[in-house]
This record gives sequence, structure tokens and C-alpha cells, in this order.
Amino acid sequence: MKMQRDEKAAAERMKPGVITSGGFLGTEARALSDIIEADEERFRALGIDFGSAADELERLKAEGAKGLGEQMTVGGRLLVKSDEARGSLPCPYDDGFFHKNSVTLELIATGERLAYSDLSIHLLREHHFCQGEGGAFRLAPDALKRLLLL
Ligand SMILES: [Zn+2]
Repeated sequence: MKMQRDEKAAAERMKPGVITSGGFLGTEARALSDIIEADEERFRALGIDFGSAADELERLKAEGAKGLGEQMTVGGRLLVKSDEARGSLPCPYDDGFFHKNSVTLELIATGERLAYSDLSIHLLREHHFCQGEGGAFRLAPDALKRLLLL
């Protein structure tokens, strides 16, 4: 985890229209530190960890990339589509730039979906930030548990 003192500036950069048009906070009214704390608690309750989830998202991204933009079936249970895009995005915590790709996962059995990018993986791994509820790129702990092999 990065220093808490960066959190106020990070929260400002997470607002819509600063780094991305939709921002990172979804429809949250909670403080960034409260969102992170609640998700850390949920990860513990589910018995999963941020590093393993980030590793599995990386692995699925690589599997999806073999489809060259077409949807791939992975492990007989997930549909994975990995799209490349030009350019990069800065992390709201100001510690690096990340490729502006997009990966979507769909659990075949239920149709439940998750969408993420290299920046989402970084936010999860380094900052324990799953993004805000109501946002298109939220990686909710329960959804990660259902979709990934953790
Ligand atoms: Zn960062």
C-alpha cells in the first residue's frame, strides 16, 4: 500500500474528466479510504488476496490476447475478450503509466461480467482499490471470487 497522504490527491484525480471521462469512483459518496478499507475487509472475509486476484487477471488477459480481438473461451467456463488500444493512462496515485487496453470476462454459466485494464490490475495490486460501486470497471471482491480461480 502507498502512503495515505497521497490519498486526497488521488481521490481528486479519480473524479470524472480528469484521467478518464467516467472517473474511477462510480456513484460512491464514501471517502476513498473507506472504500478501500471495506474492500480489504471483504477480501479477508472471502479468503482471497489482492496479489492473487491481480495475477489471475493478468493471466486471463494473456489468454484473451491469443484471440487477437475475438472472444476466447478459457477453462471451459469464461469468455475472455482482450482489446488493445493506443496510448496510456496515468495512475491516479501518480506512480506510473499504464497501457489503455480493455479486457472483458464473462462467466458462461450466469452471464456475469467484469471489465478491466492494465491500470485496473495495478490499482488492485498496489493500492487495493477495486474502483467505486456503480462504475463500469469496478472489480468487486465477490465478483472476483466468482469469476476467477482463486
Ligand atoms: Zn499507482
